[in-house]
Amino acid sequence: MQHFPIFVALAGRRVVLSGGGDAALAKLRLLMKTEAHLTVFAPSPAPEIVAWAEAGRLRLVERAMEPGDATCAVLFYAADENAEEDARTVAIARADGALTNTVDNLGDSQFITPAIVDRDPVTVAIGTEGAAPVLARAIKADLEERLPARLGLLARVGKAFRKAADALPFGRPRRDFWSDYYFADGPRAVDGIEDADAEDAARAALDGLLSRHLAAEERPGHVAFVGAGPGDPELLTLKARKLLDAADVVIHDRLISPEILELARREAEMLDVGKQGFGPSASQSDINELIVKHVEAGAQVVRLKSGDPTVFGRLDEEVEAVTARGLSYSVVPGITAASAAVATIGQSLTKRERNASVRLLTGHDMKGFADHDWAALARPGEVAAIYMGKKAARFIQGRLMMHGAAPDTPVTVVENASRADQRVLGSTLATLPADIAAAEMNGPALVLYGLAPRAAETALPSIDTSFKAQEAL
Ligand code: SAH
Repeated sequence: MQHFPIFVALAGRRVVLSGGGDAALAKLRLLMKTEAHLTVFAPSPAPEIVAWAEAGRLRLVERAMEPGDATCAVLFYAADENAEEDARTVAIARADGALTNTVDNLGDSQFITPAIVDRDPVTVAIGTEGAAPVLARAIKADLEERLPARLGLLARVGKAFRKAADALPFGRPRRDFWSDYYFADGPRAVDGIEDADAEDAARAALDGLLSRHLAAEERPGHVAFVGAGPGDPELLTLKARKLLDAADVVIHDRLISPEILELARREAEMLDVGKQGFGPSASQSDINELIVKHVEAGAQVVRLKSGDPTVFGRLDEEVEAVTARGLSYSVVPGITAASAAVATIGQSLTKRERNASVRLLTGHDMKGFADHDWAALARPGEVAAIYMGKKAARFIQGRLMMHGAAPDTPVTVVENASRADQRVLGSTLATLPADIAAAEMNGPALVLYGLAPRAAETALPSIDTSFKAQEAL
């Protein structure tokens, strides 16, 4: 180990930096998080530094450093991005007794600044002794993802709970409390608390958690209705990942891709309640019962739904089943198929001067093909994302043309949006049913009415239907 990691107390102590450009800015942003007295020497400082000086966040001296300028400084940063000037200022600072760092020059530095994950008062410092900055950044990104965003708040408030938590029996019960506090119910309790009175609000929210542990009550069950996105695991939210990682039971639809199910905790019970368009399926009331049964047994349940759970996801029926029994639930949004499909074809769902609103439609509902305000949709420039629209294509085409929609209105079908087997079918209202039939699509498909793939836009009205549109983008 060539560098020994320590945390230096900087409150009220002097830190000096020479430099006024980008390197100086980067270091100052970090240093301003501390309570150090910062002095910057720079003959021509960047405007940000001038503004920070005016705001009283640091002292700015607009000239080059001279002997004696670093007197009593604990740390010195040479950030002039000029080897000669850096060597000169370092010599001054060392003579004045400061430990020195030369930015981007490991060899000449007496100390280096690590990559930092900041959940003040919890700070994680990552160093590779300059060997692998890329690795340090990857570790940092990984930790940023893992550690709850409000970990700092939990830690600050946690100090106040330390004494009270000592009333829990030593060992397992106390460990369970802290693990729950930092990684399960705790983050959930402080999620969304505003910064202004964060600590009081968090303390109140966390009191209940402690009393429950003190009373040795079982952790109550909970169901999170989680959006799994359109299929690409990278389109999952961080919240979804964390919940999957902590789930006791995962109840999922058929559309969820295997790569996403892989992310669930190894011990989790996986229940497929797959439902398909017109095919056989577990009934909604069976699903409701299944959720209620597991939550009542105390499980942390993830009810995983494709896309966003609030879009054609039968969310309300399940929420009502849960609330009717007084059970706790939360909803975690996901990326809906419409968002993934337009992203694929390089278009927006809304666009200035084309459409100021967009409709999310379903091709069929419980009674069969679904009816909509066809006259409104038939007007030029309208856009709709039609879910479950493949089988209803002929019906939709008929209704829209009857209400005067132009036969050459662009329509794009995106099958398996965001997945490896994604396909794009550029079509028009006139040819939609025939094009869909010819394409033999088996996967979930979203029909984008009123939108052509960006690259094919100019070629309208006869768009290529050979699935090449996507590659041309
Ligand atoms: N809650 C989901 C929609 C469920 S309804 C969401 O927000 O996306 C199921 C329909 O969604 C499918 O019939 C299909 O029209 C659409 N769909 C879901 N995933 C899709 C995908 N990856 N690509 C294209 N369409 C998809």
